[in-house]
Amino acid sequence: MDRFEGDFTAQAPLPEAAIEAALGVLRSPRLHRYAPGDDPVAALERRYAAWQGRAFCLAVASGGQAMQIALRAAGVGPGDAVLTNAFTLAPVPGAIAGVGARPVLVEIDADLRLDIGDLVAKAGTSGARVLLLSQMRGHLGDMAAISATCDRLGLTLIEDCAHTMGATRDGLRAGNFGRAGCFSTQSYKHMDSGEGGLIVSDDADLMARATVLSGSYMHYARHGAGPSEAAFAEARRDMPNLSARMDALRAAILLPQIDGLEARCDAWTARHDRIARALADVPGLVMPAPDPAERRVGSSLQFRLPERDAARCAAFVVACAARGVTVKWFGRSTPEGFTSAHASWGCVAPQDLPQTDAVLATLFDMRVSLTFGLVDCDRIGSILADEAARA
Ligand SMILES: *Cc1c(COP(=O)(O)O)cnc(C)c1O
Repeated sequence: MDRFEGDFTAQAPLPEAAIEAALGVLRSPRLHRYAPGDDPVAALERRYAAWQGRAFCLAVASGGQAMQIALRAAGVGPGDAVLTNAFTLAPVPGAIAGVGARPVLVEIDADLRLDIGDLVAKAGTSGARVLLLSQMRGHLGDMAAISATCDRLGLTLIEDCAHTMGATRDGLRAGNFGRAGCFSTQSYKHMDSGEGGLIVSDDADLMARATVLSGSYMHYARHGAGPSEAAFAEARRDMPNLSARMDALRAAILLPQIDGLEARCDAWTARHDRIARALADVPGLVMPAPDPAERRVGSSLQFRLPERDAARCAAFVVACAARGVTVKWFGRSTPEGFTSAHASWGCVAPQDLPQTDAVLATLFDMRVSLTFGLVDCDRIGSILADEAARA
């Protein structure tokens, strides 16, 4: 039986320009964003805001901090209910719990998108004022319908775009639908600085609060794409300093990656589609239906084996691993690696989510690495197809 010899955890090399810029910062050595002189963090904020097409951008320490700060800047406080998808990763409910709020989980459908009917129901029963929408694994959903529903219900929409940097729905970038969009630059996201996060918005008041929350002290006017000084009158007095700044080194590494971002998104999708092609005709294997209005970035691949029980799902993961293909399974009863299901999030009160549980029970997830060539993708696809047919 053939085996895939590549590395599912490997990262594509950083651009030389990023390495040079990092060395420049190390030699300066002005690593803090508020050190006198050039500020690569402000430069990153300017450049990313322009790329994204939003008025403001704030760089912070992580995607999780971006979400916590955005929630707090949007007025979420202790005891408040916040709606979010039942299918996401632990830092999302973690960000809600981090501001003392209560995550209220909304069902997903079989295509891994938010169930808008359940959103309406849960908004009614919970009294939540905010939806933190996780565009989990790049499946945006019908953003026009979600936005319209939020408007109708008076919900503030905040987007978790950890997996959708560069993605679009109806031609509009993920992160530009809500009051704020939150991105991660952790190594396994679409730009890599090890850790890091970005918040984008067109709302000057929210961004003034977010900037002070991030730990700007009285240097808020030195930001690259922030609101004018007048917007800070209240925020500078009222907001606590949560010390979640991005440093110059990470910004210097990120800045040159923006130029290559579109091409990287296309490269992920080409790889994803090659693997998906091999899975198209496997009996009993179901992939999320592509959404023609969406440009999804294929940095990961999901499929279900709805007719298989838990024992066979577990055996499938083992069989793929034996042939060098790393697949994660969301139906596992105990969390493993980065993968966990809502029942194991300690900060979330137990909630009944029969529809999501039925989807997750047989849902598999695979990272698509840019280090894979297209021929590698054919081999991965044929191993997955082979083992799925056998499972
Ligand atoms: C990684 C991730 C985050 C948080 O990003 P960090 O930078 O790791 O804090 C948020 N949401 C999702 C869906 C993620 O995968």
